[in-house]
Parts: sequence; C-alpha cells; structure tokens
Amino acid sequence: MLDRGRAVGGRLGAGLMRRTIAVLAGKATRTLSRASGRGGGTTFPGDVARAIDPDVLRRLAGDLRQGAVLVTGTNGKTTTARLIASLLEGLPSRVVANRTGSNLIYGATAAAVADADLDGRLRADWGVFEIDEATLPTAVDEIRPRVVLVGNLFRDQLDRYGELESLARRIHAALDRLSQSGTAVLNADDPRVGEIGLALASPPLWYGLDDPRVALPELPHAADARTCPRCGASLEFTTVYLGHDGVYACPNRDFGRPTPDIAGTEIELEGLEWVRLTAAGVRLELPLGGVYNAYNLLAAFAVGSVLGLRPDYVAERLRTVSAAFGRQERFELQGRRLTIMLAKNPTGFNENLREAERVNGRHLLIALNDRVADGRDVSWIWDVDFELLARRAEVVVPAGVRAHDMALRLKYAEVPATAPQPDLERALERLLELTPPGTDAYVLCTYTAMLDLRALLVRRGWLRPYWAT
Ligand SMILES: [Zn+2]
Repeated sequence: MLDRGRAVGGRLGAGLMRRTIAVLAGKATRTLSRASGRGGGTTFPGDVARAIDPDVLRRLAGDLRQGAVLVTGTNGKTTTARLIASLLEGLPSRVVANRTGSNLIYGATAAAVADADLDGRLRADWGVFEIDEATLPTAVDEIRPRVVLVGNLFRDQLDRYGELESLARRIHAALDRLSQSGTAVLNADDPRVGEIGLALASPPLWYGLDDPRVALPELPHAADARTCPRCGASLEFTTVYLGHDGVYACPNRDFGRPTPDIAGTEIELEGLEWVRLTAAGVRLELPLGGVYNAYNLLAAFAVGSVLGLRPDYVAERLRTVSAAFGRQERFELQGRRLTIMLAKNPTGFNENLREAERVNGRHLLIALNDRVADGRDVSWIWDVDFELLARRAEVVVPAGVRAHDMALRLKYAEVPATAPQPDLERALERLLELTPPGTDAYVLCTYTAMLDLRALLVRRGWLRPYWAT
C-alpha cells in the first residue's frame, strides 16, 4: 500500500518536474529570441517546451480554473478570439491567449508557457486559443475546451491542406471528441460548417446573420462550396453575405442552412468604422467595419452566451475593444490616413476590396507574397474580383515578392496601376507620393507581406513592435 502510494507520488512529482523544466526552457528561449531581435519569438518557445515535455500543453491547460475556448475557421479567428478574450478579461478574470496569430499547436503552447509561473503552474482563469483548422483535433485532445467555435471554411492555402473535404472530416472528428461538457458553436451560414454540425451526435449552438439588406447581389467568384453534401446538386442561395456564407438549401430538400439559435438582425455597416446588429434582443456594436466583422461580433456573442455572460455586459464590453493585431489597422503616416488590411485567401481579399470600394478608396497598395505562410501558389489571385477596383481606384501599387503577378492580374481587371514594385519600402513611398495629404490610402496584403510591412513601420519608427505593447 505504502509502496504504491510512493510510486504514484513519484510519478506525479516527475510529471511536475518535467513540466517545470519545459516551462523554464520555453521562457528562456523566448527571452533569447527577443534579445537577439528575431521578432516576438511567438512559436519557438513552444517547440522547445514540447520537445522536453510533449504533454506540457495538456498539463498547463488542466490548470485553467474556468476552462478554455478554441476558435477556428479560415477567416476572422484572430479578431474573434481577441473579442472573446476581451469579454472574459472584463469580468474580470485572467486570460491566457495566443494573441499574435501563431495559431498552430506550438503557438498555443508558447502562449501557455509564457504565462506560466516559474514553478511550472499556470495560474489563470481562462484560455482563449486561436487554432488553425488542421490543428483542431490535437488542440481538442490536449486542451479539452469548454467551447469550440468554427467560423467559416473557405478555400485557403491549398498547398498546405489539400482539399477542404479532408479538412472538414478532421474538424468533424475533433468536434465529435469534444467531451460531454464541451459545446460546439457553429456558423449556420457556412454550408461546410453546416454539414459538419448537422452530423454531430450532440447538437451545436448555431449562429447566423439574418438581414438580407446587407447581402451581396450574387455569389462571388471565390465561392467554393456550392454543392449539396448529400446529393451533389448545386446549392441554391437566397441570400449571400460573404464568400459562400448565406442562406442556402438543396433543391432536393435533403440539406439546408440550420436555423440559427442566435441570429444577427438589423445590421448596420458604417464603412470601416463600425458594425451594429441586434442579437437575443440586445443591440451590439463593434468599432470595426465590414460584414465579416458582423460575423466575428455575433460569434463572440454566441460564445459568451454559452459561457453564461449577461447580454448587456457583452454589449457594453464589445463597444470598447480595439482591432485585433494585424487584421485591420489604421494610423497616420506623413499626413495621410493609412488603413492596412490583411487577406489570406480569395474570400478575405474580396471582402477587403468590397470595403475599399464602400469607403471610396482611390489610392491602394496590394502586396502579394508567396512564402510558405502565404501559400506558395498565387494562382488564387485569378479568383479574386479585382475588377471591383476598376470603378473607384485612381491608382494601385502592385507590391511584394509577386508584384509582377499582381500587376498582370490588375492589368486584366483594367485597374489603373503603377509599375510593379517588389520592394515594400519603395512601394509604400510610392503610395504616399501618389496619395494627396489629408486623404486615405489603403494597403491590402498577404500574411507575410503584413509582417514585412509591420517590420518596416517599426524600423522607420512609425509603430511600436507588437511584442513591446
Ligand atoms: Zn441535396
């Protein structure tokens, strides 16, 4: 009896020691990578900690007093996760989150390690983790979340994931493994998410928009989920809000959009400044523009309602949040107002182009990179409706590693453009030259182009590094 007790105690002690060493090593790695100026050190500490203790994230997540929320989907993860974290922080409570967009399991591990104490314990109430779709099964197993939010599934970084179908299967498997206490919160307006949710053993909470006034006139090019998962017929959309998200049904009546438990109605869009909508009888507003932010806002509200947050508290709190890192940022630069928008795929690009048109954007820079995090294959630019720019834009500066491809695409779209400028610094200077003082300029960029741009702005003293804020 005594021996068994000692053996168990010894095992526990070894586990804690291993986790403590993993946490300390991760923290040391973070300090070193910052000191050497190699960026925020957002995932490498996670690699190191996991190499020492593969269970380090499982153990740290087990320390969370209230539990964790995972946020996944192609677009809007960062903003939505930021909103949810902000709701929980205001309670008040202590929240651990991977805030810098490093959404693989290493990024989540790095965030938990960074917030853990030197004894290897994580003393926090909540974890809010933005998780890459392909990483969801691992994250559900290790973090055992209370809520998993799936926002949308668009074609994204095809060379990384292959087909959307296999991705959908992985997400389905992950949601099926959510424990009895876990709830899936799903976007009813996305046919692929709808298909996953309708096949789950325990019913999810559905949210969706319900206001045809903000719908698109037609399904854009980038829509990529138009067929019924049951019979293969083309889905009929009565309303399209964004990409392939809207109100859909199979003409053979074997599949259709689930009725949202939480519907966003009376949607008001005020350029890039505000979005307002009503949900569960409460008026919600967010200081971020665009239909995609109506989805992000509604998703955060839905998660809040599952976690038992009062609707009036959520409304009050959301009013005061600021944009998540990197997805949409505005600031003054040499007397011009610069808005930077990130797009990782055709749907994101189309949304940003639509916003640029809505706010009458005349001077733009489009930076296209093809590094691994962007997806090496840039042929998707032919799926994007750059033709939208032909109506309003006075000039567009094609920039980034693939500036020449971008220039060719703009030429076919009959959009007025400068010569391609692969050098981002020169491209930005050109944009500022062309933009009259006191007016707006817009920068649309892929993920690594955004990182390059931020590094450039920091180097020129226009921005503080994000890991110093
Ligand atoms: Zn069908």
